[in-house]
Amino acid sequence: MAGLSLRNVKKSFGEVAVVHGVDLEIADREFVVFVGPSGCGKSTLLRMIAGLEDITAGEIAIDGRVVNELDPKDRDIAMVFQDYALYPHMTVFENMAFSLRYRGIDRQEIRRRVDEAAHILDIEPYIARMPRQLSGGQRQRVAMGRAIVRDPKVFLFDEPLSNLDAKLRVQMRTEIKRLRERVATTTIYVTHDQVEAMTLADRIVILNHGRIEQIGTPEDVYDRPASTFVAGFIGAPP
Ligand code: ADP
Ligand code: MG
Repeated sequence: MAGLSLRNVKKSFGEVAVVHGVDLEIADREFVVFVGPSGCGKSTLLRMIAGLEDITAGEIAIDGRVVNELDPKDRDIAMVFQDYALYPHMTVFENMAFSLRYRGIDRQEIRRRVDEAAHILDIEPYIARMPRQLSGGQRQRVAMGRAIVRDPKVFLFDEPLSNLDAKLRVQMRTEIKRLRERVATTTIYVTHDQVEAMTLADRIVILNHGRIEQIGTPEDVYDRPASTFVAGFIGAPP
């Protein structure tokens, strides 16, 4: 069980308020997609949930336990970034094993988890390579593998496919769908790609200027936009 709740979560940088009191309940195993214009606060929200950014006010809870004061490493959350952020001097195997080693997990178990993730993501042939020897799509798979091996309570994805070309993006979208079926973990996934949002989401959250404009299933949002902003944003060409 790993539900995630945000209660009146706010963020200001100095005098500037960028998140204005977000309330959101995400169910265990639910896959929620955040969409919204650039600068509306999507990354800031993820970073606050992950603990990479302090919150100005409000409460973030995982499984009913408030995590506001917890270090990122104690939150049991894995985040995948747009730029992959792989360790350049480690092999693919070491990239995936690293966070398990410093958690004190034994070698056999590390091997088992890395092999399983490599299998799911189809990166077994590259396990001994360095990140610079991989294509963009392969690097992104390693970044996902690094998140999966930890078996976290919550996954956060911040535009993970936006550096890939259109063809690879379509392929990776299918991979993420498959992954979602095999590893059903509570997820927030940020994207600016509406097809991605439509095909992956249980529910879509539409953000605008640090506020939620609408929350609903893809059908709700596309068939019954709640505001002219949502209608304009959803209808706009990419
Ligand atoms: P999104 O991911 O939706 O594009 P962000 O969460 O990155 O938006 O940014 C939301 C707003 O907060 C933007 O106006 C951005 O300029 C501002 N912001 C983000 N990080 C910082 C920071 N470290 N210092 C000051 N302003 C920031
Ligand atoms: Mg962002």
